[in-house]
Amino acid sequence: MNIGLFGGTFDPIHRGHLALARAAMERCSLGRVHFVPVGKHPLKGSQPLATYFDRYAMVALATQEEKTFVPSLLEAPELDSSQKSGKASKERTPNFSIDTVRKLKQTLKKNDRLFFLVGIDAFKDIAKWHEPVALLRECTFIVASRPGFSLADVANSLPEKLRPSLAVTKPFQRQPAKGDLVLPGVTIHLLDSVNQAVSATAIRQAVAAKRPLGKLVDSKVEQYIKKRRLYGKQIG
Ligand code: ATP
Repeated sequence: MNIGLFGGTFDPIHRGHLALARAAMERCSLGRVHFVPVGKHPLKGSQPLATYFDRYAMVALATQEEKTFVPSLLEAPELDSSQKSGKASKERTPNFSIDTVRKLKQTLKKNDRLFFLVGIDAFKDIAKWHEPVALLRECTFIVASRPGFSLADVANSLPEKLRPSLAVTKPFQRQPAKGDLVLPGVTIHLLDSVNQAVSATAIRQAVAAKRPLGKLVDSKVEQYIKKRRLYGKQIG
């Protein structure tokens, strides 16, 4: 079976995330997509506003009605006694995607194939991720592109070892980031049909400003945000 792994801060999960997962599922015939709320992001400077547990709960609610969307605890923090008693938790070590991928792979069957789902904004920084070459070789990438990005932007984001020469990528400059990019040792499927102008930042800002969320998030997620009074005060 083809299996997707979709990691994100999901602070909160929104329509753009679900659209990406659905488009990836269709494009690569994924039988299952694991939504993995990040434990501690290795690169994002600011930490999520909602706790891991609230972000996981929102992922579980938003994926509830899709049989093939699975909320995943792969990056769940270990509960130590200080966290259980509500005291400040110890500083967490970051969760690297390569470790999460290897952890998930241990649970898969021999014939399963793993696909890594990501938006182009995050993919742009792939060369800065931990062990990016190993990660790109461990799984096939599905990248949701955006208007304005070219195939050359995608190829030039790759870590140096896998990046094609400028002579190779030059003709890619005029090609929009869609179709498949197949290079030695790496395959990247590009989705150009997602196009959802929504971000978790905009949602947090709307909640703080008491603006309606409309269809930006699942209605169960909106209820959860209200009940737990998330994002009420801080904007970020
Ligand atoms: P924030 O606004 O807090 O930075 P975000 O909306 O980008 O958050 P993340 O949880 O950080 O959400 O994103 C998880 C993944 O989903 C990333 O790979 C990101 O590129 C992708 N993504 C986020 N929003 C969209 C969208 N509207 N369309 C397609 N992909 C998206």
